[in-house]
Amino acid sequence: MLDPFGREARKIVKDEFGGITELLMVIPSYVGIDAALERVRWINSGEVPKGILELDDVRDLLTFYALLGALAFSPYGLEMELVKEASLGIYSLKIETAETMEGTSVPLEAVRGDYIPPRDRAILERTHHTELSPEEKKNLRLEYRIHLSKFLELWDGSLKEVYIRKGYAYLTRGQAVELWKRAFERNFDRAVNLLYEVRDELPGYYFRLYEELGKIAREHFKERLEKMGRAEAQPLRFDLFPPCVKMALGGVPAGLRNYAITVLLTSFLSYARICPNPPRRDVRIRDCVQDLSVVEKEIMPIIIEAGNRCSPPLFEDQPHEIKNIWYHLGFGLTDKPTLEDSGNSPWYFPPNCSKIRANAPELCKPDRDCRNIKNPLTYYLRKLYLENRKRKENEQAEGAENEGKGAGMEGEGK
Ligand code: SF4
Repeated sequence: MLDPFGREARKIVKDEFGGITELLMVIPSYVGIDAALERVRWINSGEVPKGILELDDVRDLLTFYALLGALAFSPYGLEMELVKEASLGIYSLKIETAETMEGTSVPLEAVRGDYIPPRDRAILERTHHTELSPEEKKNLRLEYRIHLSKFLELWDGSLKEVYIRKGYAYLTRGQAVELWKRAFERNFDRAVNLLYEVRDELPGYYFRLYEELGKIAREHFKERLEKMGRAEAQPLRFDLFPPCVKMALGGVPAGLRNYAITVLLTSFLSYARICPNPPRRDVRIRDCVQDLSVVEKEIMPIIIEAGNRCSPPLFEDQPHEIKNIWYHLGFGLTDKPTLEDSGNSPWYFPPNCSKIRANAPELCKPDRDCRNIKNPLTYYLRKLYLENRKRKENEQAEGAENEGKGAGMEGEGK
């Protein structure tokens, strides 16, 4: 199996198992937890075990989806980074040694002889440059083409790097692999979001697998964790909130107030601040904090201010709504809660986007980051994840630049 999101894989999932959810239900009877973990355990050695590369297609798919199922419990956590990194390693290797990349999730087509005028080909592939080795020439060969509309969805490099003709982008194998990696990350993202919605229905097997993944991930990312601390409960980043939550924060008109403030904002802020990756839906606030200060000093003031910005202000004509807020936080109907009250009512989870659109369509004004998102909380987690990744890349680039400067100065001094 070259690509677990490719044509062939999709066909197996649909025809042989009846869909992704059905596939996840049968995986525990076929794949032991250790077998699934084999796919990530090699990561510190840097060498993919031969046995993983040689798995037959169905086994490969089952073990890969076992890990995806486990990630439903922590989208955008360290576990996801681990599985993504290991899976990219495995499938990149398979793709490198495969004869063709056709059939992967990127709609690539092998280039036929008459697609490119001979003069263009001679210039682009430097066919007459005798100083180039056969390997270098191979790397310059335009092997695939892809329709421009599909290409532009994935490519974020310069268009100058690519030969474009009659509505197609022509790619070397290296460029095609880069494009495939982007498609893989995007498909991975989509799958994790999709599974997040069904995690309550998943067998306990996946939670156990998730816990084991967590141990390996913490070991693998030890250095980073020591530097930054675990990216779980942390101060709220308002700039990364989804549009619906930003709208609720700004205050809304009468018909929307209760839904925007009590249902959406209360659940979103509390989970985002206290327990962004709840391991299960029946988690209580007292499972996540030692005292109520974070709720009383950070979360409640934001909710009350947003309620005051509504027109008319929510708590002026509905003062009892405060009790309802505590109810939605899991403390029962009260306005003087103690930590021990947590669990007297359910701690409401942020509603899915489909529910928001059905109950308060005015709140949903999606931006480009809402694509494939099923819940406002995953929108936020994804943005946090991307921010952390960007920061890490910048730090690495700065580190490399400083090293370069250091080396330059050493050279000058000699
Ligand atoms: S798509 Fe979801 S996250 Fe985005 S604005 Fe709509 S409800 Fe909010």
